[in-house]
Amino acid sequence: MIRRVVELLILVVLGAVWGWSHDSANWSFFGALAGATVWSAFDALRARRVLTWLNKGETSRPPALSGVWGEVLERSRKLVKKLEKKASNSDARLEDFLAAIQASPNGVVLLDSSGRIEWSNLTAATHLGFDPQRDLGQYVRNLVRAPAFVSYMDIGNFGHEIQIDGPGPRPSQPSKISLQVHPYGKKRKLMISRDVTAVQLAETMRRDFVANVSHEIRTPLTVLSGFVETMQCLPLDEEERVRYLALMSQQAQRMQTLVSDLLTLSRLEGSPAPGQGDWAEADELLNHVVQEARGLSAAIAEPTHEIVVETCQALKISGSKTELLSAMSNLLSNAVRYTPGGGTITVGWRVRESDGWGEFFVSDGGHGIAAEHLPRLTERFYRVDRSRSRETGGTGLGLAIVKHVVQRHGGQIDIQSEIGRGSTFVMALPPVRVRAAQPD
Ligand code: ADP
Repeated sequence: MIRRVVELLILVVLGAVWGWSHDSANWSFFGALAGATVWSAFDALRARRVLTWLNKGETSRPPALSGVWGEVLERSRKLVKKLEKKASNSDARLEDFLAAIQASPNGVVLLDSSGRIEWSNLTAATHLGFDPQRDLGQYVRNLVRAPAFVSYMDIGNFGHEIQIDGPGPRPSQPSKISLQVHPYGKKRKLMISRDVTAVQLAETMRRDFVANVSHEIRTPLTVLSGFVETMQCLPLDEEERVRYLALMSQQAQRMQTLVSDLLTLSRLEGSPAPGQGDWAEADELLNHVVQEARGLSAAIAEPTHEIVVETCQALKISGSKTELLSAMSNLLSNAVRYTPGGGTITVGWRVRESDGWGEFFVSDGGHGIAAEHLPRLTERFYRVDRSRSRETGGTGLGLAIVKHVVQRHGGQIDIQSEIGRGSTFVMALPPVRVRAAQPD
């Protein structure tokens, strides 16, 4: 500042001296004025250079000026640099933030005050079937035409979510989408979409399951209450009474088996998978289920089945003994129940040479199963031969139990069948669960 005053004074004095050299007080005054004007013009020139540089917004090469203008330039340059750094930090943070929203499993769409898409992540675009780049600026209602969505936007009550069908025919695309709008700022909206296909499927399965269980229980219950009513209302002789009681007991037994299978399934679903520390003798398991199957055959078939046990080397199997017995017993009893009396059933444990997996197999010469049923056999309550299943006390849950047991032991189930020739069911367990038994 002092420098500016000194500069001004020098020019004023020089002007005054020049005027004085012309021998007149007036000339002195004009000389001083001319000095001040020259200084102002010179200063205005410097100010212009500073303004030009500031207007260009250039930070790297400011004009070389000294004094106050130089100081102004330097400070402005530093300020602009600081602001630029701040802006670039904000940009980086925004990029990070958008990348995080891109990674979200939920769809996110930002809508402006008139419902146009300002930004959307890829998930939302997949959920709603639009292009996240091309469709920017489009009205969301023009892209999502589901009637439920249109009336949701019209009514504007966004306190709850809605569900609409997914966009497309491809299996990779979700088939059910949940949407909720959250207003924010000045009439702007954040729209969140979720793929609820699996939730819906689980809900459908739960509803089907409850309907199936109710149906399975209602049938014997209706029969049972019919008999009770008959016995209450009609005078029965001893022979009829005994016959009715036997039929009632059969129905009660059916309900008991159903409840017991349901409990087994729920235990399998709700408990941790069996460890690998407990080993059971394969022969012991086999003898147990074969005895049971022979008893079942004697009870339901005339003549009884021939059950052939094929033995290979003595094996030990690791896992839950109760679960393994349950799975083996279900497979063998099915063979007995779905093979006409007198038929042959072959059963045993073996080790697959190719990869060392242990296999429990049951082959029967029964009616066999048509190929279209095979993929659905292990579903709960899925039956091919409904009447045969009921007649022989089936619940429709046997193979579902087998599937669960096999999965919990890290194994696989394989079913081969041909109509009229019979079926082979194989429960295969990985090599870590199978080992040769040491001879005593
Ligand atoms: P269920 O209690 O009805 O036998 P499962 O789950 O054990 O139920 O079996 C499902 C269906 O698979 C049965 O209803 C039956 O139609 C068919 N099935 C199972 N095992 C055999 C078999 N060895 N031979 C022919 N059909 C079978």
